[in-house]
Amino acid sequence: MDFEKRDLILIAGILLVMIGLFPFIAPIYAALIGILLYFGVKIYIGRKKKMIREDVGQGICMECGFKIIDNKCPNCDSEKV
Ligand SMILES: [Zn+2]
Repeated sequence: MDFEKRDLILIAGILLVMIGLFPFIAPIYAALIGILLYFGVKIYIGRKKKMIREDVGQGICMECGFKIIDNKCPNCDSEKV
């Protein structure tokens, strides 16, 4: 989990949510919710990024559309090489 500029926007948004919650619940609970939100979003983004990387990282075969694994198409590699 590396720190990005987007994290600042995320933290700012969560702070706003926390401040919005202050009149309704104790600040400690608002802070807890903020922390949970932060890690929840971070984990969600991390998983999504990983999924996208795995999905398009190596691309798909131009011939059959199969996912490329180890720079070869498992479907029609034998014919290509
Ligand atoms: Zn193929």
